[in-house]
Amino acid sequence: MKGKKASHGGSAKFAVSETFTSIQGESSFAGRVCFFVRLAGCNLDCSWCDTRYARKKQRTMSLGEILDEALKSDADLVEITGGEPLAQKPTPLLCSKLLDQGFEVLLETNGSMPTGVVPKGVKIILDCKCPSSGEAGKMLFANFAKLRKKDEVKFVIADRQDYDYARKIIGRHGLPGRTEKIFFSPVSGRLKAAQLAAWMIADRPPAILAIQLHKTIWGDNAKGK
Ligand code: SF4
Repeated sequence: MKGKKASHGGSAKFAVSETFTSIQGESSFAGRVCFFVRLAGCNLDCSWCDTRYARKKQRTMSLGEILDEALKSDADLVEITGGEPLAQKPTPLLCSKLLDQGFEVLLETNGSMPTGVVPKGVKIILDCKCPSSGEAGKMLFANFAKLRKKDEVKFVIADRQDYDYARKIIGRHGLPGRTEKIFFSPVSGRLKAAQLAAWMIADRPPAILAIQLHKTIWGDNAKGK
């Protein structure tokens, strides 16, 4: 357990889908033990969403309860994900309190909501939706201008159209100058990693191939992993 015991987290409440300790699966933090807070609800409806169950709230938790669980997990790394975590107003406060407790904090967001509210110490994993998701039109590209070097951008790719779109967006927004970590991740069951790898070897985009490690370990439909 961390040095400090979680004190009062105030009256903020969160709609939570699940909390669990697992292995971080899809970023430069992949492979590390991580405590996850999956907040419930999402403002998008991606065609290939693999966390559809997170649309529904399973329980309400106070800020203090989440902090206590994070501390009990004894993980150094906490990821706040969803659903869409920025759809809940007190999420930046949760980030600050976790940072205060000495955690490394990741926040994965779907890219459609302003990230300027996220405290500086947090590492943002910013998704950029491609056409196959059906939600590419909802991206808030102004978020790219706020990226810090430690933040990461992830394109989830289902087909060649998505791949070409991702490369176009990277160039149009000068992403390699904004972040050192751009990931291409194949949609499980839609695009073989080997195919995406072949395209990347041929074209050399400034991106890193990311395979969803947690799915390799526990399978496609494992919940709470
Ligand atoms: S943004 Fe994420 S949680 Fe929301 S529908 Fe898309 S994949 Fe699912």
